[in-house]
Amino acid sequence: MTDNLIYGPVPSRRLGLSLGVDLVPYKVCSYNCTYCQIGTTPETTIERKPYIPAHMILDQLSARLKEGVRPDYITLGGSGEPTLNSQMADIISGIKSLTDIPVTVLTNGSLLSKKDVRNDLAGADVVLPSFDACDEKTFFKINRPDSHISFTDMARGLIEFRNVYSGKIWLEIFIVKGLNDTESAIKKFKQWTDRFSPEKIHLNTAVRPTAESDIQRVSEEELEYFCKILGGNAEVIAPFKKPVVNEELMDTEKKILNMLGRRPCTLADISAGLGLHPNEVLKYADPMINRQTIEILHANGKTFYRKKIDD
Ligand code: SF4
Repeated sequence: MTDNLIYGPVPSRRLGLSLGVDLVPYKVCSYNCTYCQIGTTPETTIERKPYIPAHMILDQLSARLKEGVRPDYITLGGSGEPTLNSQMADIISGIKSLTDIPVTVLTNGSLLSKKDVRNDLAGADVVLPSFDACDEKTFFKINRPDSHISFTDMARGLIEFRNVYSGKIWLEIFIVKGLNDTESAIKKFKQWTDRFSPEKIHLNTAVRPTAESDIQRVSEEELEYFCKILGGNAEVIAPFKKPVVNEELMDTEKKILNMLGRRPCTLADISAGLGLHPNEVLKYADPMINRQTIEILHANGKTFYRKKIDD
């Protein structure tokens, strides 16, 4: 998918209004996380290459910025793992020559053990890596990484990155019930995060539909308690609370509702049908699930959204 590489701006709890940029096609990733909200990874990879050339991304972004869009952040991420794009450094420096809007990178952190990846991220203003496990066993259960990635390398890469990177690191920890949610697990996270020294720690959980249907969330109260263990720079980012609804949202919500009124659809169906990026669809779906106008249905190993029928 290279025809629509820029999406949003979408409202983000962490990033305000965020203009998303895809650096890899859906869904090129080094992980196949059980909790992934955009679907399963058909085949993991650690191969870095220009999956989408820098000039193509920058041309589309330039056109979008000329339309007058003014987000709080330009966010590299979206449809997979952005550090797999070997032209990431050119993309970041190209964005810097187009605008002074800060650049953020959403990464799973799996390739930070590679010096070229650490160097390529140097120009970003904020890097948001994931860190969901404190040992190899849990790492493989939750993130299901490519066979070339080990927990030790991944964690060491984060420490090395912290030592050389002068921008801000906002670390995300995704908590899954039964896998990494005990008090002793959180205390181990604290030992690791002390070594990474992130400016912020963001706690998330499975509030939205996940790749595997048996992944369960923890409560907001539990996450708040875990924040206390992790320290003053930790906060809950899982969207438990009802998002603010505006007119533009309502218009797109109506289109989604119309579509789901005809038949249940997957995230990919809605995305293709309405020409929206999967991450944009998720932003619209959240308030609709909260207001119970739509609901989630798991069937044949897939996650469907359907219009809620009154009891
Ligand atoms: S959550 Fe991120 S890192 Fe994990 S599989 Fe999905 S896109 Fe890849």
